[in-house]
Amino acid sequence: MSPLYVPPPECLLKSFTVPRRYLFGPGPSNVPPRILTAGSQPMLGHLHAETIEIMDHIKSGIQYAFQTQNRMTLAVSGPGHAAMECAIFNSVECGDSVLIAVNGIWGERAAEIAERIGDELHTVELQLQVFIALSKYKPVLFFLTHGESSTGVVHPIDGIGELCHRYNCLFLVDSVAALGGSPIYMDKQDIDIMYTGSQKVLNVPPGTAPISFSERACCRIFSRKTKPVSYFLDLSWLANYWGCDRKSARAYHHTGPVTALYSLREGLAILAETGLENSWKRHKDVAAYFHEGLERIGLKPFVEDKKARLPTVTTIVAPPGYDWREITGYIMKNHNIEISGGLGPSVGMVLRVGLMGCNSNKPYVDMILEALTDALKHCHKSKV
Ligand code: PMP
Repeated sequence: MSPLYVPPPECLLKSFTVPRRYLFGPGPSNVPPRILTAGSQPMLGHLHAETIEIMDHIKSGIQYAFQTQNRMTLAVSGPGHAAMECAIFNSVECGDSVLIAVNGIWGERAAEIAERIGDELHTVELQLQVFIALSKYKPVLFFLTHGESSTGVVHPIDGIGELCHRYNCLFLVDSVAALGGSPIYMDKQDIDIMYTGSQKVLNVPPGTAPISFSERACCRIFSRKTKPVSYFLDLSWLANYWGCDRKSARAYHHTGPVTALYSLREGLAILAETGLENSWKRHKDVAAYFHEGLERIGLKPFVEDKKARLPTVTTIVAPPGYDWREITGYIMKNHNIEISGGLGPSVGMVLRVGLMGCNSNKPYVDMILEALTDALKHCHKSKV
């Protein structure tokens, strides 16, 4: 009798297929064939010369996308959350004071991460309060979300970095949902740490997260008294693995996601070919076209101030009298389109539509407007 008491699972003995779907939620967005093809090239060793060359291309692509000359630029092996933890775990030590702007779920999440190091944690809601809070709490780090995908708001960045530096505080920006779709200039805007995700405007499968650190951030991080709580995300190891330190040899730290790096390289290549400014303009124009269309079919953008609307993820006031779940379910079932409900503080209040990278185009806007119109006609509407 076989000593195996768990048999091979039946489900794995059959092949599987996945449907094609329009991914118009807040991410992941659709992956164009060029990126899928790049990711299906043969496996290489993670420290082979060719892989290292691809990693170097990725670093240059991130420097372009972030508009930075930071030497300490790399991609974390993991989703946006891994980069979030990498930024916070490296720059904050136990006992440090941290200031977080909470304007949606991502500030809440950053607070949840920083809390784990046992810091003195303070939050602000309004930009005006930042100045007061910096002088009062003397934080080592100030966290701000550039594009809040839960509320659909893009936050202005100008002037904040300079303010932080006056108080000897590092400026950390989450641009997961905005990078490539809304202007940001890491060096010019005095940002010390910035990260993004692969699965939004870059149209790369989730699992790699570009991140960059300024000289000022590196000085702070490399003069810490204690080691960061995470070995996996320790910047001194990552810096060597990505060839950002001055050592000639790269040491094994972890096995990087080789084929995911091919895809990331290709996503960054498409952005470089398109040009950042063209990409920003296209996202802005397509979002404006979408917002006009929404008003035409009787729906209201959730963010009233047009200048504060995030061009990548649009929030729509949940249509009164409808169950938002029925609407998103109807659109998925009948139009093969994913749109989503709110997240965190916006649950039940909004529908969210992401038009990012290759999905940011007017024919897709027309498709979504048609699907929403159809859903409003067929979903149940209460009289109250
Ligand atoms: N920050 C923002 C602004 C996001 O929109 C997201 C993903 N929706 C994240 C962080 C986290 O990224 P991930 O889901 O890849 O961990």
